[in-house]
Amino acid sequence: MRIDVLTLFPEMFDGVFGASILGKAKEKGIVELQAINFRDYANNKHNTVDDYPYGGGGGMVLKPEPVFAAVEDLLGGESVKPRVVLMCPQGQTFNQSKAEELSKEEHLIFICGHYEGYDERIREHLVTDELSIGDYVLTGGEIPAMAVIDSVVRLLPGVLGNESSAVTDSYSTGLLEYPHYTRPPEFRGWSVPEVLISGHHARIDSWRREQSLLRTLSRRPDLLEQAELTDKEREWLANLRKSDRKRS
Ligand code: SAM
Repeated sequence: MRIDVLTLFPEMFDGVFGASILGKAKEKGIVELQAINFRDYANNKHNTVDDYPYGGGGGMVLKPEPVFAAVEDLLGGESVKPRVVLMCPQGQTFNQSKAEELSKEEHLIFICGHYEGYDERIREHLVTDELSIGDYVLTGGEIPAMAVIDSVVRLLPGVLGNESSAVTDSYSTGLLEYPHYTRPPEFRGWSVPEVLISGHHARIDSWRREQSLLRTLSRRPDLLEQAELTDKEREWLANLRKSDRKRS
């Protein structure tokens, strides 16, 4: 996979693209990651990339020319058009299924806005996706782009040491993940659940599934509506809800 990020602050990506799992994925050649300063595509004497908004008001607006020129340069002669993702608090809220969808692409281009926003013609005529990382506003699209890129790259085959860890992650299964424990078996009087040290894999699997369901029921019951559940699990959850209602 190739990922290009258009930003006015490419140095912000040095740490994220060079360290930990993303750094290793890059080293192994699984992903090519580059941050490009779209100021280099400004077609004016002072390399200006923003201007005052038509109609007045505060804040500066990113001009369309440098962003269009940078994307068009990256497209080159590619026959398959890449997804061009605009980071934007007004976009579709990013989630795990979007990460899975993007991880199947060969080339992604991210555009990081800054200041008040960007010229609307970028949204209308250049991008294929608009993504938000939540209902709050950051100063720029760099941190949101990093979050999206990290969650996409970790899904690429060969990136995570233990392939199964992405499969059981929260949201990948449609549920929240079960609790984890490691050594020591007892810490300050708190013990690891007996089943986990029993060595009985079938019992461990069923304990984990049950914990996953319980955790989802208490923290994100909305997820249960879409999750793949057996009839037995649905009935068990319905009974739990009923007894909860009786208690309260
Ligand atoms: N005036 C814009 C609005 O109200 O929608 C907000 C502009 S924000 C200060 C500057 C840039 O940060 C945006 O263009 C976008 O690239 C990025 N950004 C801020 N919050 C974001 C979020 N929640 N998700 C994705 N990108 C965000």
